[in-house]
Amino acid sequence: MTVVTQENKMDLALASGGGEVIGPLTETVQTASDIIWNMVAANLPRDLHWQFILVTLIIAAFIWLIRGGRGSRDAAGRERKADFLQFLFPKDIYTHVSARVDIWLWVTERLLRPFWVVGLLATVGPSTETAVIGVLQWTLGATPAIAVNYGWMLLYSLVTLLCYDFVFFLIHYTMHKVPALWVLHKVHHSAEVLTPLTRYREHFLAGPIWAAGGAFSYGLIGGLFAWLFNGELIAATLFNIGFFALLFGFNGSFRHYHVQFNYPRRLSLWLHSPAMHHVHHSYLPQHWDANFAAVTSIWDRLFGTLYIPQKDEYTPWGIGPNTQSEYRSYWQNTVGPFNDWYKMLIKGNSPQDDATKTGAIEKN
Ligand SMILES: [Zn+2]
Ligand SMILES: [Zn+2]
Repeated sequence: MTVVTQENKMDLALASGGGEVIGPLTETVQTASDIIWNMVAANLPRDLHWQFILVTLIIAAFIWLIRGGRGSRDAAGRERKADFLQFLFPKDIYTHVSARVDIWLWVTERLLRPFWVVGLLATVGPSTETAVIGVLQWTLGATPAIAVNYGWMLLYSLVTLLCYDFVFFLIHYTMHKVPALWVLHKVHHSAEVLTPLTRYREHFLAGPIWAAGGAFSYGLIGGLFAWLFNGELIAATLFNIGFFALLFGFNGSFRHYHVQFNYPRRLSLWLHSPAMHHVHHSYLPQHWDANFAAVTSIWDRLFGTLYIPQKDEYTPWGIGPNTQSEYRSYWQNTVGPFNDWYKMLIKGNSPQDDATKTGAIEKN
Protein backbone atom coordinates (compact mmCIF):
# COMPACT_ATOMS: atom_id res chain seq x y z
CA MET A 1 0.00 0.00 0.00
CA THR A 2 1.17 3.44 -0.73
CA VAL A 3 2.62 5.30 2.19
CA VAL A 4 2.12 9.00 2.48
CA THR A 5 4.49 10.24 5.10
CA GLN A 6 7.54 12.40 4.80
CA GLU A 7 7.17 12.79 1.06
CA ASN A 8 4.12 14.96 1.54
CA LYS A 9 5.37 16.80 4.53
CA MET A 10 5.50 20.48 4.05
CA ASP A 11 8.78 21.26 5.68
CA LEU A 12 8.51 24.79 4.56
CA ALA A 13 11.77 26.56 5.05
CA LEU A 14 11.93 30.25 5.71
CA ALA A 15 15.47 31.05 4.77
CA SER A 16 16.83 33.59 7.18
CA GLY A 17 17.98 36.09 4.59
CA GLY A 18 15.72 36.00 1.57
CA GLY A 19 12.56 34.70 3.23
CA GLU A 20 12.25 32.08 0.51
CA VAL A 21 9.37 29.71 1.04
CA ILE A 22 9.86 26.20 -0.25
CA GLY A 23 6.78 24.08 -0.76
CA PRO A 24 6.50 20.32 -0.33
CA LEU A 25 6.99 19.33 -3.96
CA THR A 26 9.99 21.56 -4.44
CA GLU A 27 11.69 20.20 -1.38
CA THR A 28 10.94 16.63 -2.32
CA VAL A 29 12.37 17.01 -5.77
CA GLN A 30 15.49 18.48 -4.28
CA THR A 31 16.16 15.27 -2.38
CA ALA A 32 16.17 12.25 -4.70
CA SER A 33 14.29 10.72 -7.55
CA ASP A 34 13.26 7.62 -5.59
CA ILE A 35 11.33 9.89 -3.28
CA ILE A 36 9.65 11.42 -6.31
CA TRP A 37 8.71 7.93 -7.34
CA ASN A 38 7.08 7.29 -3.95
CA MET A 39 5.31 10.59 -4.03
CA VAL A 40 3.89 9.88 -7.45
CA ALA A 41 2.69 6.52 -6.24
CA ALA A 42 1.13 8.21 -3.24
CA ASN A 43 -0.53 11.04 -5.05
CA LEU A 44 -1.37 9.85 -8.50
CA PRO A 45 -3.71 6.91 -8.23
CA ARG A 46 -2.23 5.06 -11.17
CA ASP A 47 -0.44 2.20 -9.50
CA LEU A 48 -1.63 -1.35 -9.37
CA HIS A 49 -2.33 -2.28 -5.76
CA TRP A 50 -3.33 -5.84 -5.02
CA GLN A 51 -5.22 -4.60 -1.96
CA PHE A 52 -7.65 -2.65 -4.13
CA ILE A 53 -8.17 -5.69 -6.33
CA LEU A 54 -8.85 -7.78 -3.21
CA VAL A 55 -11.43 -5.27 -1.90
CA THR A 56 -12.98 -5.23 -5.38
CA LEU A 57 -13.32 -9.03 -5.33
CA ILE A 58 -14.75 -9.10 -1.79
CA ILE A 59 -17.40 -6.51 -2.65
CA ALA A 60 -18.17 -8.33 -5.90
CA ALA A 61 -18.68 -11.56 -3.89
CA PHE A 62 -21.19 -9.71 -1.69
CA ILE A 63 -23.01 -8.43 -4.76
CA TRP A 64 -23.18 -12.02 -6.09
CA LEU A 65 -24.68 -13.19 -2.79
CA ILE A 66 -27.15 -10.37 -2.40
CA ARG A 67 -28.33 -10.41 -6.03
CA GLY A 68 -28.42 -14.20 -6.35
CA GLY A 69 -25.82 -14.38 -9.11
CA ARG A 70 -26.99 -11.36 -11.08
CA GLY A 71 -25.22 -8.06 -11.68
CA SER A 72 -22.16 -8.95 -13.73
CA ARG A 73 -21.73 -8.33 -17.43
CA ASP A 74 -20.56 -10.53 -20.24
CA ALA A 75 -17.99 -9.53 -22.87
CA ALA A 76 -20.75 -7.82 -24.85
CA GLY A 77 -21.56 -5.56 -21.88
CA ARG A 78 -24.89 -7.25 -21.16
CA GLU A 79 -25.98 -8.16 -17.64
CA ARG A 80 -26.35 -11.92 -17.02
CA LYS A 81 -26.76 -14.46 -14.24
CA ALA A 82 -23.57 -16.37 -13.45
CA ASP A 83 -22.21 -18.94 -11.02
CA PHE A 84 -19.70 -17.71 -8.46
CA LEU A 85 -16.44 -18.25 -10.37
CA GLN A 86 -17.88 -17.13 -13.67
CA PHE A 87 -19.22 -14.06 -11.87
CA LEU A 88 -15.80 -13.06 -10.52
CA PHE A 89 -13.58 -14.22 -13.43
CA PRO A 90 -15.71 -14.62 -16.54
CA LYS A 91 -13.91 -16.65 -19.16
CA ASP A 92 -15.26 -14.66 -22.12
CA ILE A 93 -13.79 -11.46 -20.63
CA TYR A 94 -10.38 -12.71 -19.44
CA THR A 95 -9.66 -14.64 -22.64
CA HIS A 96 -10.70 -11.70 -24.81
CA VAL A 97 -8.03 -10.14 -27.02
CA SER A 98 -8.81 -6.78 -25.37
CA ALA A 99 -7.79 -8.14 -21.94
CA ARG A 100 -4.49 -9.36 -23.39
CA VAL A 101 -3.83 -6.01 -25.02
CA ASP A 102 -4.51 -4.35 -21.64
CA ILE A 103 -1.56 -6.27 -20.20
CA TRP A 104 0.90 -5.23 -22.93
CA LEU A 105 -0.19 -1.61 -22.89
CA TRP A 106 0.29 -1.61 -19.13
CA VAL A 107 3.78 -3.10 -19.46
CA THR A 108 4.69 -0.46 -22.06
CA GLU A 109 3.40 2.31 -19.84
CA ARG A 110 5.36 1.02 -16.83
CA LEU A 111 8.57 0.77 -18.85
CA LEU A 112 8.29 4.29 -20.21
CA ARG A 113 6.95 5.92 -17.08
CA PRO A 114 10.28 6.66 -15.34
CA PHE A 115 11.38 8.80 -18.28
CA TRP A 116 8.57 11.25 -18.08
CA VAL A 117 7.53 10.98 -14.43
CA VAL A 118 10.79 12.36 -13.09
CA GLY A 119 10.98 15.07 -15.72
CA LEU A 120 7.42 16.29 -15.27
CA LEU A 121 7.26 16.02 -11.53
CA ALA A 122 10.57 17.80 -11.21
CA THR A 123 9.29 20.74 -13.23
CA VAL A 124 5.49 21.10 -13.28
CA GLY A 125 4.75 20.37 -9.60
CA PRO A 126 7.43 22.50 -7.91
CA SER A 127 7.20 25.41 -10.35
CA THR A 128 3.41 25.57 -9.86
CA GLU A 129 3.89 25.44 -6.12
CA THR A 130 6.58 28.10 -6.08
CA ALA A 131 4.47 30.35 -8.31
CA VAL A 132 1.43 30.01 -6.03
CA ILE A 133 3.47 30.78 -2.90
CA GLY A 134 5.07 33.75 -4.68
CA VAL A 135 1.71 35.20 -5.77
CA LEU A 136 0.23 34.76 -2.28
CA GLN A 137 3.22 36.42 -0.62
CA TRP A 138 3.11 39.24 -3.10
CA THR A 139 -0.63 39.88 -2.77
CA LEU A 140 -1.37 38.92 0.82
CA GLY A 141 1.98 39.16 2.56
CA ALA A 142 3.72 36.71 4.88
CA THR A 143 2.25 33.36 5.85
CA PRO A 144 -0.48 33.57 8.52
CA ALA A 145 1.10 30.39 9.99
CA ILE A 146 -2.18 28.84 11.10
CA ALA A 147 -1.84 26.16 13.77
CA VAL A 148 -2.28 22.65 12.41
CA ASN A 149 -4.84 20.15 13.66
CA TYR A 150 -6.37 16.98 12.20
CA GLY A 151 -9.35 18.91 10.83
CA TRP A 152 -7.06 21.08 8.73
CA MET A 153 -5.19 18.01 7.52
CA LEU A 154 -8.46 16.46 6.45
CA LEU A 155 -9.49 19.67 4.71
CA TYR A 156 -6.15 19.76 2.89
CA SER A 157 -6.74 16.20 1.67
CA LEU A 158 -10.31 17.03 0.64
CA VAL A 159 -9.37 20.18 -1.26
CA THR A 160 -6.54 18.27 -2.96
CA LEU A 161 -9.03 15.59 -3.98
CA LEU A 162 -11.51 18.12 -5.39
CA CYS A 163 -8.77 19.98 -7.24
CA TYR A 164 -7.31 16.79 -8.67
CA ASP A 165 -10.80 15.62 -9.65
CA PHE A 166 -11.46 18.92 -11.42
CA VAL A 167 -8.16 18.83 -13.33
CA PHE A 168 -8.88 15.19 -14.24
CA PHE A 169 -12.34 16.25 -15.45
CA LEU A 170 -10.91 19.09 -17.55
CA ILE A 171 -8.18 16.99 -19.17
CA HIS A 172 -10.62 14.15 -19.81
CA TYR A 173 -13.25 16.48 -21.27
CA THR A 174 -10.63 18.07 -23.53
CA MET A 175 -9.40 14.67 -24.67
CA HIS A 176 -12.92 13.79 -25.79
CA LYS A 177 -13.63 17.11 -27.49
CA VAL A 178 -10.35 17.91 -29.27
CA PRO A 179 -9.93 15.48 -32.21
CA ALA A 180 -6.12 15.43 -32.07
CA LEU A 181 -6.29 14.39 -28.41
CA TRP A 182 -9.22 12.04 -28.84
CA VAL A 183 -7.09 9.80 -31.08
CA LEU A 184 -4.76 9.31 -28.09
CA HIS A 185 -7.50 8.74 -25.54
CA LYS A 186 -9.29 6.42 -27.95
CA VAL A 187 -6.80 3.74 -26.89
CA HIS A 188 -8.45 3.71 -23.45
CA HIS A 189 -11.87 3.47 -25.08
CA SER A 190 -10.90 0.78 -27.56
CA ALA A 191 -11.11 -1.70 -24.65
CA GLU A 192 -13.88 -4.11 -25.59
CA VAL A 193 -14.04 -5.66 -22.14
CA LEU A 194 -13.27 -4.10 -18.77
CA THR A 195 -10.70 -5.63 -16.42
CA PRO A 196 -8.93 -3.91 -13.49
CA LEU A 197 -5.94 -3.45 -15.82
CA THR A 198 -8.05 -1.43 -18.26
CA ARG A 199 -7.54 1.40 -15.81
CA TYR A 200 -3.95 1.68 -17.06
CA ARG A 201 -4.80 1.18 -20.70
CA GLU A 202 -3.60 4.40 -22.28
CA HIS A 203 -1.40 5.28 -25.20
CA PHE A 204 2.14 5.92 -23.94
CA LEU A 205 1.86 9.56 -25.07
CA ALA A 206 -1.25 10.09 -22.93
CA GLY A 207 0.55 9.18 -19.70
CA PRO A 208 2.59 12.41 -19.53
CA ILE A 209 -0.57 14.50 -20.04
CA TRP A 210 -2.29 12.90 -17.05
CA ALA A 211 0.89 13.14 -14.96
CA ALA A 212 1.36 16.83 -15.76
CA GLY A 213 -2.27 17.49 -14.77
CA GLY A 214 -1.83 15.64 -11.50
CA ALA A 215 1.43 17.43 -10.71
CA PHE A 216 -0.16 20.79 -11.52
CA SER A 217 -3.17 20.21 -9.25
CA TYR A 218 -1.02 19.00 -6.35
CA GLY A 219 1.37 21.92 -6.85
CA LEU A 220 -1.53 24.38 -6.79
CA ILE A 221 -2.98 23.12 -3.52
CA GLY A 222 0.45 22.35 -2.06
CA GLY A 223 1.48 25.98 -2.61
CA LEU A 224 -1.74 27.38 -1.12
CA PHE A 225 -1.57 25.25 2.02
CA ALA A 226 2.19 25.67 2.40
CA TRP A 227 1.61 29.42 2.55
CA LEU A 228 -1.39 29.18 4.92
CA PHE A 229 0.30 26.85 7.40
CA ASN A 230 3.89 27.93 7.05
CA GLY A 231 4.68 24.53 5.61
CA GLU A 232 3.68 22.61 8.73
CA LEU A 233 0.67 20.83 7.29
CA ILE A 234 0.71 17.24 6.09
CA ALA A 235 -2.09 15.39 4.30
CA ALA A 236 -4.43 13.44 6.55
CA THR A 237 -3.71 9.73 6.57
CA LEU A 238 -5.56 6.71 7.82
CA PHE A 239 -3.38 3.73 8.76
CA ASN A 240 -0.56 5.67 7.11
CA ILE A 241 -2.43 5.78 3.80
CA GLY A 242 -3.54 9.00 2.19
CA PHE A 243 -7.11 9.40 3.40
CA PHE A 244 -8.65 9.95 -0.02
CA ALA A 245 -6.07 7.87 -1.86
CA LEU A 246 -8.16 4.95 -0.59
CA LEU A 247 -11.18 6.29 -2.40
CA PHE A 248 -9.18 6.93 -5.57
CA GLY A 249 -7.54 3.55 -5.58
CA PHE A 250 -10.62 1.51 -4.92
CA ASN A 251 -12.81 3.43 -7.35
CA GLY A 252 -10.18 3.14 -10.08
CA SER A 253 -10.09 -0.65 -9.75
CA PHE A 254 -13.79 -1.32 -9.48
CA ARG A 255 -14.92 0.99 -12.23
CA HIS A 256 -12.90 -1.06 -14.69
CA TYR A 257 -14.32 -4.35 -13.40
CA HIS A 258 -17.21 -6.01 -15.24
CA VAL A 259 -19.42 -6.31 -12.12
CA GLN A 260 -21.93 -3.53 -11.71
CA PHE A 261 -21.63 -1.57 -8.52
CA ASN A 262 -24.37 1.07 -8.40
CA TYR A 263 -24.70 3.54 -5.58
CA PRO A 264 -28.10 4.81 -4.42
CA ARG A 265 -29.11 7.71 -6.65
CA ARG A 266 -28.59 10.28 -3.91
CA LEU A 267 -24.99 9.16 -3.39
CA SER A 268 -24.37 9.02 -7.16
CA LEU A 269 -25.14 12.72 -7.28
CA TRP A 270 -21.98 13.26 -5.23
CA LEU A 271 -19.70 10.30 -5.91
CA HIS A 272 -19.04 8.40 -9.13
CA SER A 273 -20.20 4.82 -8.71
CA PRO A 274 -18.17 2.21 -10.61
CA ALA A 275 -21.25 1.49 -12.78
CA MET A 276 -21.17 5.10 -13.96
CA HIS A 277 -17.80 4.46 -15.59
CA HIS A 278 -19.29 1.45 -17.42
CA VAL A 279 -21.47 4.07 -19.10
CA HIS A 280 -18.41 6.15 -19.96
CA HIS A 281 -16.98 3.15 -21.85
CA SER A 282 -20.20 2.42 -23.75
CA TYR A 283 -20.41 3.17 -27.48
CA LEU A 284 -24.16 3.83 -27.46
CA PRO A 285 -24.82 7.44 -28.56
CA GLN A 286 -26.82 8.25 -25.42
CA HIS A 287 -23.73 7.40 -23.35
CA TRP A 288 -21.18 9.48 -25.24
CA ASP A 289 -19.25 12.17 -23.41
CA ALA A 290 -20.69 11.43 -19.97
CA ASN A 291 -19.12 10.93 -16.53
CA PHE A 292 -15.67 12.42 -17.04
CA ALA A 293 -14.45 12.86 -13.46
CA ALA A 294 -12.38 10.40 -11.43
CA VAL A 295 -14.04 10.31 -8.04
CA THR A 296 -16.82 12.83 -7.45
CA SER A 297 -19.94 13.67 -9.46
CA ILE A 298 -19.65 17.34 -8.61
CA TRP A 299 -17.89 18.54 -11.78
CA ASP A 300 -19.99 16.44 -14.15
CA ARG A 301 -23.09 17.82 -12.49
CA LEU A 302 -21.87 21.39 -12.81
CA PHE A 303 -21.03 20.97 -16.49
CA GLY A 304 -24.07 18.90 -17.41
CA THR A 305 -22.26 15.66 -18.25
CA LEU A 306 -23.50 13.46 -15.40
CA TYR A 307 -25.27 10.25 -16.41
CA ILE A 308 -26.58 7.96 -13.69
CA PRO A 309 -27.47 4.62 -15.30
CA GLN A 310 -30.46 2.42 -14.54
CA LYS A 311 -29.78 -0.84 -12.78
CA ASP A 312 -28.46 -3.38 -15.33
CA GLU A 313 -28.46 -0.80 -18.12
CA TYR A 314 -26.89 -2.19 -21.29
CA THR A 315 -23.42 -0.72 -21.88
CA PRO A 316 -21.57 -2.33 -24.79
CA TRP A 317 -17.90 -1.37 -24.49
CA GLY A 318 -15.44 -0.16 -27.08
CA ILE A 319 -15.45 2.36 -29.90
CA GLY A 320 -18.26 0.72 -31.83
CA PRO A 321 -18.59 -1.96 -34.51
CA ASN A 322 -17.64 0.28 -37.43
CA THR A 323 -14.14 1.23 -36.30
CA GLN A 324 -13.33 -1.32 -33.60
CA SER A 325 -11.35 -3.54 -35.98
CA GLU A 326 -8.89 -0.66 -36.49
CA TYR A 327 -8.10 -0.50 -32.77
CA ARG A 328 -7.93 -4.09 -31.59
CA SER A 329 -4.38 -5.41 -31.41
CA TYR A 330 -1.49 -4.07 -29.33
CA TRP A 331 0.20 -2.83 -32.49
CA GLN A 332 -2.95 -1.07 -33.73
CA ASN A 333 -3.36 0.64 -30.38
CA THR A 334 0.28 1.73 -30.36
CA VAL A 335 0.59 3.13 -33.88
CA GLY A 336 -3.12 3.96 -34.36
CA PRO A 337 -2.88 7.53 -33.05
CA PHE A 338 0.06 8.26 -35.39
CA ASN A 339 -1.96 6.93 -38.34
CA ASP A 340 -4.93 9.04 -37.33
CA TRP A 341 -2.81 12.18 -36.96
CA TYR A 342 -1.33 11.55 -40.39
CA LYS A 343 -4.81 11.18 -41.89
CA MET A 344 -5.91 14.37 -40.17
CA LEU A 345 -2.95 16.26 -41.63
CA ILE A 346 -3.34 14.88 -45.15
CA LYS A 347 -7.11 15.07 -45.38
CA GLY A 348 -7.48 18.12 -43.22
CA ASN A 349 -10.25 16.57 -41.20
CA SER A 350 -10.47 14.30 -38.21
CA PRO A 351 -11.23 10.60 -38.04
CA GLN A 352 -14.25 11.59 -36.01
CA ASP A 353 -15.59 13.60 -38.95
CA ASP A 354 -15.28 10.51 -41.12
CA ALA A 355 -17.12 8.47 -38.55
CA THR A 356 -19.90 11.03 -38.32
CA LYS A 357 -20.29 11.28 -42.08
CA THR A 358 -20.51 7.54 -42.56
CA GLY A 359 -22.81 7.23 -39.58
CA ALA A 360 -20.25 5.11 -37.76
CA ILE A 361 -20.44 4.87 -34.04
CA GLU A 362 -17.07 6.08 -33.01
CA LYS A 363 -16.96 8.06 -29.87
CA ASN A 364 -18.05 7.34 -26.33
ZN1 LIG B 1 -12.83 8.87 -21.75
ZN1 LIG C 1 -11.97 3.96 -18.10
